[in-house]
Amino acid sequence: LDQKRTWKQAVKAVMQSLEPLGDEYCRVLQAGLTDDRWCDRYPNRGKQSGAFSCGTFDGAPYIMMNYQPTVLDHVFTLAHEAGHSMHSYYSAKSQPFQYYDYVIFVAEVASTFNEQLLSRHLMRQAKTDEERAYLINRDIDAIRGTIIRQTMFAEFEKVIHELAESGEPLTIDCFKSEYEKLLKAYFGPNFVIDEQLKLECLRIPHFYRAFYVYKYATGLSAAIALSERVLSGGPRELSDYLSFLKGGCSKYPLDLLRDAGVDMAKSGPVETALDRFETLVDELDALL
Ligand SMILES: [Zn+2]
Repeated sequence: LDQKRTWKQAVKAVMQSLEPLGDEYCRVLQAGLTDDRWCDRYPNRGKQSGAFSCGTFDGAPYIMMNYQPTVLDHVFTLAHEAGHSMHSYYSAKSQPFQYYDYVIFVAEVASTFNEQLLSRHLMRQAKTDEERAYLINRDIDAIRGTIIRQTMFAEFEKVIHELAESGEPLTIDCFKSEYEKLLKAYFGPNFVIDEQLKLECLRIPHFYRAFYVYKYATGLSAAIALSERVLSGGPRELSDYLSFLKGGCSKYPLDLLRDAGVDMAKSGPVETALDRFETLVDELDALL
């Protein structure tokens, strides 16, 4: 997609997409991204690549990123990191020190929630079918890569940990054969699996932090379900979501999310996310 957005245009697009989150959210973030200088935005000599948001209890929730006007993904990065920063802002403002710092299980909800809003906003604004198709495909791929692929990784971890616990020696052949079983199960019979793909399980750094990856899948599922709830709801649904952002780690993650309106102990949110996947695939199908 041949598009260019200056930093100012990117901020404007993100801010417009987040309007459903209400005046206060938008006012604070708008100031943060402009006059209050939260964001170190451009690449620079010697600067680290990538992006992150980093908040402290009594300071601003700063963002480090490397914005490039021709990369649409960077507009999504801005929405994502802004989601983390506003989560930090609300939690630090609403909780005592010991409860302000949220945990990973809920962190990626606040960030990917904003990506959902941005994506819907850009789809509405799309001027051509090509642009719309690009955005739909981007969302489809995000669900595939986050909910489906990370769940496969999580299942691999579970299988390998169980084998280790039962005293089974973990050899390279064992890794390869267990991974191959999952590739076949997740990709289905019409997908050709390269011989080398079995080695993929050795290059996922997250496996050295046991049971991390499933949080990507639960986070995006919750974000999709919550964004639909806020967009189709009224003041109550919005206030439930903002209370979640204010919650820090004052409750267990499942309880924080339940109060926000999604019960991650049930299959509902994952089903909502997979319904969204189906809708997007149908829309793309109709466009092509
Ligand atoms: Zn993130």
